[in-house]
Amino acid sequence: MTSCPECENNLDIDVDEVEEGDVVACDECGSEYEIVGVDPLELSKVEEGIDEDEDDYKDEDEEEE
Ligand SMILES: [Zn+2]
Repeated sequence: MTSCPECENNLDIDVDEVEEGDVVACDECGSEYEIVGVDPLELSKVEEGIDEDEDDYKDEDEEEE
């Protein structure tokens, strides 16, 4: 089980249902965490005020590799 680093609330993340880049929010304190790794599960806190994702999103249906 993964706990919120801020308040230790159980974040209840199922690693089978998330992938790198997903953002999860803590129900208790409202902190948001970006998933930066799933094996092992690694979270990076999303700081408010950073909006670098705004015009940088990718179409997940496109295959461009
Ligand atoms: Zn929390």
